[in-house]
Amino acid sequence: MKTPLVNVDIPSIYKNAQGAPVPLPKRLAQATPDMANAIGMLAKDLQAHGGRLVLSDLFRSYEMQLQSHLDYVKGKKTAFSPPPGGSFHEAGRAMDVSLSDLHMSLSNFWDIAKNRGFVPIIDTPNASLSEAWHFECRGSHQLVIDYYRAKKGNNFAKPYTAGAASAILAIGVHVDMFGDAQKEAQLQALLIRCGHDIGNLDGAIGPSTRAALTALGLADAGLDDALAQVEALAQTKFPSEFSAPAPTSVALDNGFATHIPDHVVLNG
Ligand SMILES: [Zn+2]
Repeated sequence: MKTPLVNVDIPSIYKNAQGAPVPLPKRLAQATPDMANAIGMLAKDLQAHGGRLVLSDLFRSYEMQLQSHLDYVKGKKTAFSPPPGGSFHEAGRAMDVSLSDLHMSLSNFWDIAKNRGFVPIIDTPNASLSEAWHFECRGSHQLVIDYYRAKKGNNFAKPYTAGAASAILAIGVHVDMFGDAQKEAQLQALLIRCGHDIGNLDGAIGPSTRAALTALGLADAGLDDALAQVEALAQTKFPSEFSAPAPTSVALDNGFATHIPDHVVLNG
């Protein structure tokens, strides 16, 4: 199975027309099971320290990421936002946190968040830096970043982007750079996460990818069969990324439409 997204019930920075705070809108409030669990635990940790976990962003669809990127390119939004295919937000694996609601220093928050598996995107806990609010739960896609850092592939300018692409493919979302070879790229990313060296994650099934499949007894398997079998293998290796907690859904039936960022498409 693909990595599922589950609903997350979490306070947001947004308010309804009456000025009352609302939960994070449902279309944003989705995460992978391991990330959703980590968010729940982190929210409790913060509560115990007198703070609150309040989010401004979590999941972004392809369209939302594109809008966010265009807003950045046009200068409507100052925080950098990459084009679709390069953000862990698109994989349900990144969140933007309201720093003023933490009620603790950013470095204290880093310690608590790291303990729950979150990784900051900046190098030092300096709250005045752009993206100080952005945290990721990369799961096994960190292995793809490590693979590229070890120079086992060379077709991504940054190892980080390879990890993001892997995480996006894992939930079944189209990544432009792989064109018509989405399934092939999914298969390659899974093989890398399962510890195989396949050269570049590029959607082109070459000798290295074939050798990895042969090692798994899948030399004669068709693409769909190989994909299903390697997905099953990944599921046994990384069960927390697949086992969904009981989903909690948040009813959002009326106007939270003030203070919604431009990239959040409310209709469509
Ligand atoms: Zn972010």
